[in-house]
Amino acid sequence: MPRPLVSIIDISALQHNLAEARRRMPAAITWAVVKANAYGHGLERGMRAFGAADGLALVEPEAAVALRELGWCKPILLLEGCFDLIDFRLAAQHRLELTIHCPQQIGWLEQTRFDAPVNVHLKMNSGMNRLGFMPQDFAAAYQRLRSNPRVGKIALMTHFANADAADTPAMTLVEQVRRFQLGSAGIDAPWNISNSAATLLHADMRSHEVRPGIMLYGGTPGTHTSTPAGAFGLRSAMTLQSELIAVQQIHPGDAVGYGSRFIAETPMTIGVVACGYADGYPRHAPSGTPVLVDGVRTRLVGNVSMDMLTVDLTPIPTAHHGSCVTLWGDGLPIDEVAQAAGTIGYELMCAIAPRVRVTER
Ligand SMILES: *Cc1c(COP(=O)(O)O)cnc(C)c1O
Repeated sequence: MPRPLVSIIDISALQHNLAEARRRMPAAITWAVVKANAYGHGLERGMRAFGAADGLALVEPEAAVALRELGWCKPILLLEGCFDLIDFRLAAQHRLELTIHCPQQIGWLEQTRFDAPVNVHLKMNSGMNRLGFMPQDFAAAYQRLRSNPRVGKIALMTHFANADAADTPAMTLVEQVRRFQLGSAGIDAPWNISNSAATLLHADMRSHEVRPGIMLYGGTPGTHTSTPAGAFGLRSAMTLQSELIAVQQIHPGDAVGYGSRFIAETPMTIGVVACGYADGYPRHAPSGTPVLVDGVRTRLVGNVSMDMLTVDLTPIPTAHHGSCVTLWGDGLPIDEVAQAAGTIGYELMCAIAPRVRVTER
């Protein structure tokens, strides 16, 4: 019998969330972001669920090739572009659209033979200081690409550091848009600037192409947790579920788990759950992190170990060996667990380990 731990992916939730993205920006070309194994939901599964998207976007060239082999015929966008000249040959062969964020990539593009014109997304560094040309260098990069007969469509791209409304004095969305407008003044080309947060919170923004990721999986964008994903009409797509594989009665003064970090103050019942950090559950989740047992909310107690974690069964006197445990998903938003563990829903989704069984519903 396999371990009872399973990641249950709700395909209809993925489809619903994509429809929510499209509804907000109906005129935009929608790139469903499926990087990192579709945020831990499975690349092939994401491809099937997002059949209604205009294209799929990701960062791993080999996964882009896998999408073609799985039969995806619509556009594919590499969000970091090519990492070397060989990738450009791959891109030409598999008709990939390419982010161009640095002069090296323009050079490689010029050395590559394309049978059909290649569509590119020219990226500006508008304030995040990760990828992209500085605003003052943007027009020259555009002209160099535009004069290349191998290049087809050129979209103008940038990425927001704080589109989740957690604007910091150091950089705001408004300031990034201002720099983007300045740097692209006079260039007549579509804009590709909105991520999930911008799609949800700034749907009136000019963005001819959008790149939603986390919202498609039912997570809250960025680190902004005051508006839960459910309040945006999004449905959680991943439920991480397991069972109690043991129950222990302990006494006042008894300690639980490695490091004996949790010590009972009263007689209590402890449930042992088949799920640990080797499955992707965050090891740093402290005592108190929410967990559902038979649908009833309780708390993690003690240190998370590699294959197991322990929960307080006080609120669920009927719980028993085999009781259903929800780590996140149905009835327990992943963002709540993430916040308790000092991380974000994105990281929890992506960290699901290969040994975790996946089923669909
Ligand atoms: C990951 C990524 C996105 C999606 O971001 P979300 O916050 O998940 O919506 C969009 N654009 C780029 C360039 C990305 O790398």
